[in-house]
Amino acid sequence: MQNLEVDKGQEVAGILEAVCENIGNAVCVRNQETGEILYANKLMREVFVSPTDQELILKLIDWEMPTGNGHGEVYYEEGRCWYDLHCATVTWLSRQPAYLYTFHDITEKKQYQKMMEHQTYRDFLTGLLNRMSCEKDLPGYIEDAILAEAEGALLYLDLDDFKHINEGLGHQYGDELLKAIALELQRIEGISESCYRMGGDEFVIIIPRVSYPRMEEILSQVKEIFDKPWFLKNADYYCTMSMGVAVFPGDGATAQELLKMADIALYDAKRSGRNRYARYTKETDSKSGKRLDMEKNMRDATISGYREFEIFYQPIIDLRKGGVCSGAEALIRWNSMELGFIPPSEFIPLAEYLGLINPIGNYVLMEAARRCKYWNDHGYPEYKVNVNLSVVQLLQPDIADIIHRAITETGINPQSLTLEVTESLAINDMARMKNILANIKKLGVRIALDDFGTGYSSLNHIREIPFDVIKVDQSFIRDLEHDAYSRSFIKMVVQLAEEIDVNICIEGVETKEQFRILADMNVGMIQGYYFDRPVTWKEFEQKYTPDLRH
Ligand code: C2E
Ligand code: CA
Ligand code: CA
Repeated sequence: MQNLEVDKGQEVAGILEAVCENIGNAVCVRNQETGEILYANKLMREVFVSPTDQELILKLIDWEMPTGNGHGEVYYEEGRCWYDLHCATVTWLSRQPAYLYTFHDITEKKQYQKMMEHQTYRDFLTGLLNRMSCEKDLPGYIEDAILAEAEGALLYLDLDDFKHINEGLGHQYGDELLKAIALELQRIEGISESCYRMGGDEFVIIIPRVSYPRMEEILSQVKEIFDKPWFLKNADYYCTMSMGVAVFPGDGATAQELLKMADIALYDAKRSGRNRYARYTKETDSKSGKRLDMEKNMRDATISGYREFEIFYQPIIDLRKGGVCSGAEALIRWNSMELGFIPPSEFIPLAEYLGLINPIGNYVLMEAARRCKYWNDHGYPEYKVNVNLSVVQLLQPDIADIIHRAITETGINPQSLTLEVTESLAINDMARMKNILANIKKLGVRIALDDFGTGYSSLNHIREIPFDVIKVDQSFIRDLEHDAYSRSFIKMVVQLAEEIDVNICIEGVETKEQFRILADMNVGMIQGYYFDRPVTWKEFEQKYTPDLRH
């Protein structure tokens, strides 16, 4: 009988052991006091084969389950596996108190979860975190700064010329550019884990509290990325960006608020001419209010017949003809009924941003051409007029037609019309720029390169595009008397211009001394307050066309 009982017990133990051996989980039993392994099932022995494996897993158990009972997820780094770990207190053979551990492998589930998370929180194209991540992470960064009584910052970036590159070169190149930018952003120390693509060509960078002391350095590193060209489709392309900066928790203590403030600052940067960054300040709000006023008033001013706009003329002096006036540059003035006088440096960037520069520019073109035609017909046939053309105007598909219409409607001799263009980054597509300007040149007008020396690959432009005039930027004149570099630069440009048979015009000449230096250098044309400021057409005619035959 007794034997039978023992037999039964042994039989049950045998069955239990067989169950434990073949169960889908790794199982082991340890002595509660000594930690000695009393039993390990087949899977346990197979998974944690070597003594080091076993040692490591025991350490992990002690770390995760110091009190015995319970369950949790553990990551076994050496095996790159995730386990659901259960622990129960049991009485082992000879009444030893022991712990029973079961390991259920959940690695696949975890990998799937991670992949889903990755898809939800990552931007597919660039691999950066996405907008959803940004909204999820931002409160944590703000909280962290508040707790430490410190600060952090949020940078909101928007590319200026992405549309042109995307449409001009094709979407695959646009994608390449976005990927390249993402890569460069992540390389910046201190923000590599907090760069987000918010969608389209917008990025957000969070500068966490710990990196905030290096904010200025980070800002300039971000800017540097956009200072150099990108090699796309066998050529170099520039893509500038505008950026709004808001500091937390000062400018906003919730994610929503902070994103809004950074966005207001970005808008401010965009409207003051792009390719710059703006810090959010309390005044930004009122400034953006002022900009809205300006926007409304400018729209009204264009609708109501451009009466608030006036064109001033600044004489251009030809030194080779003994210092006589050879014509003028047309410069727009806006005298708003509501807002008072607004200088072009303030409203032209906004007009460009709003696209209003197109009708306003057409107005200047028509008026200036009409005025010059009048001078030409009444005793001053040699006078020319210079009209500034913004890049936005140049990029209109029908720009050549618009100029053609201005010529035919006013009857101006195309040779009397000089169009001033700048080396803008927006048309860094040299082939496109060449094409546009070639079409315009076919009309017989002259083209001047304005603000020369401030742009990027200036010499390249001169070589590839047949300009008639190069206008050297004012910044080279300011310190002409003291700055050897400015003098050498102008000397070099004068020489170059002679070689390639291009006229040269120096702007911003204010003093007699500057004038003398330039005259000695054999400069062709000069413009500046030294001779005259921009004046109304009436004043111009009184001074420079005294013999107008009516
Ligand atoms: P810009 O084309 O470089 O024009 C020359 C600017 O220098 C003018 O400023 C002129 O008044 C100023 N200036 C001339 N001589 C001197 C001088 O001796 N010293 C100094 N300090 N300044 C001098 P303004 O009229 O304020 O125009 C500023 C800018 O606005 C222009 O720079 C041009 O880029 C833009 N702009 C003006 N009118 C038009 C326009 O009709 N269309 C477009 N697209 N842009 C315009
Ligand atoms: Ca100009
Ligand atoms: Ca200029």
